[in-house]
Amino acid sequence: MSNHAQEIVIIGGGAIGCSIAYFLKSDPQFTGRVTLVERDPTYKHASSALSASSIRQQFSTPVNIALSRFGFDFLQNAPDVLAVGDDKPALALHEGGYLVMAGPNGGDILKAVHAIQTKENAPVILLNPEELAQRFSWLNTQDLSCGTLGLAKEGWFDGYGLLQGLRKKARALGACFIQDEAIGFTHKGDAISAVKLKSGATLPCDIIINACGPWSGKLGDLLGLDIPVRARKRNVFVFTCKNPPLDMPLLGDPSGVWVRREGDRFICGTTPKHGEPDPDDLPLEVDYAQFEDVLWPALAHRVPAFENIRQSAAWAGYYEVNPVDHNGLVGRHPGRSNLYLACGFSGHGLQHSPGIGRGMAELLIHGHFQTIDLTPLSYDRILRGEPMLEVNVI
Ligand SMILES: Cc1cc2nc3c(=O)[nH]c(=O)nc-3n(C[C@H](O)[C@H](O)[C@H](O)COP(=O)(O)OP(=O)(O)OC[C@H]3O[C@@H](n4cnc5c(N)ncnc54)[C@H](O)[C@@H]3O)c2cc1C
Repeated sequence: MSNHAQEIVIIGGGAIGCSIAYFLKSDPQFTGRVTLVERDPTYKHASSALSASSIRQQFSTPVNIALSRFGFDFLQNAPDVLAVGDDKPALALHEGGYLVMAGPNGGDILKAVHAIQTKENAPVILLNPEELAQRFSWLNTQDLSCGTLGLAKEGWFDGYGLLQGLRKKARALGACFIQDEAIGFTHKGDAISAVKLKSGATLPCDIIINACGPWSGKLGDLLGLDIPVRARKRNVFVFTCKNPPLDMPLLGDPSGVWVRREGDRFICGTTPKHGEPDPDDLPLEVDYAQFEDVLWPALAHRVPAFENIRQSAAWAGYYEVNPVDHNGLVGRHPGRSNLYLACGFSGHGLQHSPGIGRGMAELLIHGHFQTIDLTPLSYDRILRGEPMLEVNVI
């Protein structure tokens, strides 16, 4: 693809949009212009600012495992690669691991997923209940059939720091950020020729990228295109514990509840199980009853020390759920000749933002993916009715 005088417009300036801008502008072969349209540069409701900012190798699809591996390496090098002058983003990457557990009925699925991870060389081990009890004396293993523990390249980091680091570096490399909202489009044939902005301005474009996070489906509505991405609320609660377990990895409980350390406190949340109600577009008000009714009992059951905890803060944000298969949509949308998607990451987009940004830049500059083959995430699978289900949604 020639990129002479290419006008690339990215709608959405979260971690995904900023990462695409950064990787485009850092490729010496790219000579085009990059404009990011972000309606709220304070990121009040953006997922990238409300995330639990954790990273794991424990996915059920090879492409997600590869994206996480790339993501972890990127986070390790981020202070140097994202430095702007003397300003080096400190991303507080902590390699704490994940322990994903299965109850009496989930063991076969967890073992099958572990086999995929092993095939992809992810450093994850399978532990039986005795081994779990031996390793983690503070864990109630009575109703567990097995667990998988990541030994490397898993943990948590400063997600807001990553967003700001990508944004600053993209800017320093020449990407243009404008505060505005995309509200419509003009067309020439089967291509989008310009974006109409709320301010009344129009932005001409050769390529347009939908990186609107949880609102990506709504951008599709403006175009009359089906983009299966929905905004689904998730609460995160912060708590303190008097006698906390030491060296606790992020726990993924069979109940759907997750918990991890955050400095001297803990954060936790839950994901609805398959078939449970998960409405779109709920207001971002914290559902405090969820902590009392669902999270605390599950936490105290799994880690008896968590019987004695005090909830101290909370927030709510949107997962950008692709309800078809809980995986991202990356690459061209067949509905327009110049519309590209980078959305639908279903709660794992922050850790994958470096790999997605790099992949999108490769596709747009070189015409194909070079570092990681992201074609499994193409929209074509939706059209073909061949979803690629991500089993490990945490
Ligand atoms: C509670 C919670 C926990 C999470 N935990 C993790 C985790 O542990 N690990 C992980 O990897 N991921 C996690 N995620 C998911 C992760 O945060 C997202 O996948 C990621 O941040 C998505 O980035 P984004 O840039 O696509 O979206 P966003 O950060 O939401 O950015 C999209 C931007 O688009 C803008 N926008 C939308 N429409 C328009 C428009 N029409 N015009 C202009 N601007 C527009 C919005 O204002 C927004 O700033 C979590 C998410 C939540 C909510």
